[in-house]
Amino acid sequence: DLFGTDRRNSIGWNLNNPVMAARIEDGMAPFRDARWTAAPVIAGETLGGGETLLANPADRTQAVGTVVSADKAAASRALDVAMAAFPAWRDRPAAERAAILDRIADLYEANTFELMAILCREAGKTRMDGVLEIREAVDFCRFYAAEARRLPPASKGLGPFVCISPWNFPLAILTGQIVAALVAGNTVVAKPAEQTPLVAAKAVALMLEAGVPPDVLALLPGDGAVVGAALTGDPRAAGVCFTGSTDTAILIDRAMAATGSVRAPLIAETGGLNAMIVDSTALVEHAVRDIIASSFQSAGQRCSALRAVFVQSDIKDHLLAMLEGAAMELRVGDPWDAATDVGPVIDEEARGVIEDHCRRFEGAGRLLFRHPLGDAATTGLFVAPAALALDGFDALEREIFGPVLHVIPFEADGIDQVVDAINQRGYGLTLGIHSRLDDRVEAICRRARVGNIYVNRNQIGAVVGVQPFGGEGLSGTGPKAGGPHYLARFTQPGPSAIPL
Ligand code: GLU
Repeated sequence: DLFGTDRRNSIGWNLNNPVMAARIEDGMAPFRDARWTAAPVIAGETLGGGETLLANPADRTQAVGTVVSADKAAASRALDVAMAAFPAWRDRPAAERAAILDRIADLYEANTFELMAILCREAGKTRMDGVLEIREAVDFCRFYAAEARRLPPASKGLGPFVCISPWNFPLAILTGQIVAALVAGNTVVAKPAEQTPLVAAKAVALMLEAGVPPDVLALLPGDGAVVGAALTGDPRAAGVCFTGSTDTAILIDRAMAATGSVRAPLIAETGGLNAMIVDSTALVEHAVRDIIASSFQSAGQRCSALRAVFVQSDIKDHLLAMLEGAAMELRVGDPWDAATDVGPVIDEEARGVIEDHCRRFEGAGRLLFRHPLGDAATTGLFVAPAALALDGFDALEREIFGPVLHVIPFEADGIDQVVDAINQRGYGLTLGIHSRLDDRVEAICRRARVGNIYVNRNQIGAVVGVQPFGGEGLSGTGPKAGGPHYLARFTQPGPSAIPL
């Protein structure tokens, strides 16, 4: 046992096994045209109000469900309830709270097909991304349950925790934040991303079904500028757990500071400008496969995704030719189709930003290649995977959250400068290395200031309990999710009893 616990990661689904693939296909089929609803839930009660329609990013003409947004008053009420429920929840034995997390994991597994259908139709997740996301959500529950059983006995929760989760992992990250806060003895007010309230509503319903007391967990779908701001600017919030953009994390930090209360720091996982270094000793076929996965899987909408690959000049043309060939093989289209590799991006705004960026580079003669898209439906928010030429890392103004790879050549004697250029950007999330020189790999690892380094493999999809995930600098505050330091941030040590 790797971790000294009786915990195991979930087995998940092997999509290369035709029997498993067919079971998923059949299991998802009844949800092909289903509609879901989301609304604020406080103390187990669902609030009514004006409904907004949510469309499928792969086909904007197809409705997926409706959402009722919370307002400031709901945010305040949710915190009232979370304050009142806190002492009893804090004082429950950690083992009891952990048992509820294990039940959540079981219920997620039992509801895999519906969850995958929502992830696909609300968030544009491919079959593979859906499987991986459910695995991660389940693993977070079981991992934090095991960790909670090992917390020092006197440690206790801090109070009502505000959990603000992103649309790119609308189930896994939402779940990881909430269950970590809960199992450590905090009550939770959760604000899911505007784009993905439906899967959040389903997840919270399963958490309540698993035995989370209704007054301990509230769900507030809604606008970050309204609900998020009301929650993070309220002194009753004992802590904030946030995953999203660096800019928003800075706003939250300011809002928390402005309340004037002394409290636990913000736990934030934010953006990245992630690089990979491929030197001339790399196995090119292998590097190509990992570059494709790191930059184009999930349509590049992971904060871990590869944004710029540094390629040693001697092998650049060879690598680029193979990369282009591999990229052209990708199937871009409706993620409901099991054969699709790259689904849509999340919304019009995202597509606009990515397309503008590609157009600017193309106008400057810097387009290396672009997928033709072919018959990907015109009603969907599809973006063609692209590779763009960059002279230096500085020329990339910011993180482009989509299937766009930048390629930067370097000379044999320039490795240290490459690592320095990466460090100088101030982000520090993931770094990929493809090299067969152990000394070089070690030297890069020592020099790079990033949270997660991946050697001779792709740089996405950190595995709970195996690869704790989180960044440095502008990429986040730590502690890493799915790692041994995470839960402690949601606790305080409890009283030190000094005997006479
Ligand atoms: N944990 C994910 C990964 O390793 C990324 C999380 C994110 O995009 O926020 O790919």
